[in-house]
Amino acid sequence: EVTAKLAHEILNPLAGIKAAVQLLARTRDEGPAALAARDTAHVISSEIARVEQLVRRLLTYARPLSPRLQVSEVVPLLDLASDAARSELARAGVTLERRVAEDLPEVEVDPVLITQALSNLLINAAQASASGSRIHVRADRRELDGNGFISIRLLDEGPGIAPEVLPKLFQPFFTTKPHGNGLGLVISQHIAREHGGSLFARNREDARGAEFELLLPVAPPAAN
Ligand code: ADP
Repeated sequence: EVTAKLAHEILNPLAGIKAAVQLLARTRDEGPAALAARDTAHVISSEIARVEQLVRRLLTYARPLSPRLQVSEVVPLLDLASDAARSELARAGVTLERRVAEDLPEVEVDPVLITQALSNLLINAAQASASGSRIHVRADRRELDGNGFISIRLLDEGPGIAPEVLPKLFQPFFTTKPHGNGLGLVISQHIAREHGGSLFARNREDARGAEFELLLPVAPPAAN
């Protein structure tokens, strides 16, 4: 609750600052002082955008998610996530290779939240990948402790996760990226758990690279 309140308290004045800086950036004067002021205004704008993104992510983490569940096939969810991550995948020069098991049961999920979780994972994988490499997306059925799950795995060809980093991955604000905020995995795990599922991180067994596995419970059979 405190985090959510604090986030709003930060976002409101930030909106005011943003508007003021945009006004400054619009000055039509051409003198050196005006040009310097315009450059500074652009720098401030992009820093504001970073704070804004961080606080919005924090808000997603702090809020109870109250998923709006609907029964869905797995493939459309994968499509939505790839669409959401498209520009990041293109920037990294990576391609997706998808293998979906036949006759997968449906899941009961909030498509918006699951898209967010999966696209976070795809973006991370893209950021860890060298240009020209692939991200393998696998969807299979899995039994765990007598319960049925859909397993969605993302395997990349990046450097993998160092052993000392592995236990810290799901800690809020843990990041190894210069401009990271360390909330993506925490939020994705939060989303998985709100659906009665889970999110696991490990290194691939078959090759170099990291593997993230999202487990979602199979939808209960329709009641007719
Ligand atoms: P951020 O992306 O802002 O760093 P995340 O919570 O999404 O926040 O990720 C936390 C850290 O986990 C990353 O900084 C990185 O060190 C590690 N990580 C996540 N995905 C991968 C991956 N596919 N390969 C290697 N390391 C990863």
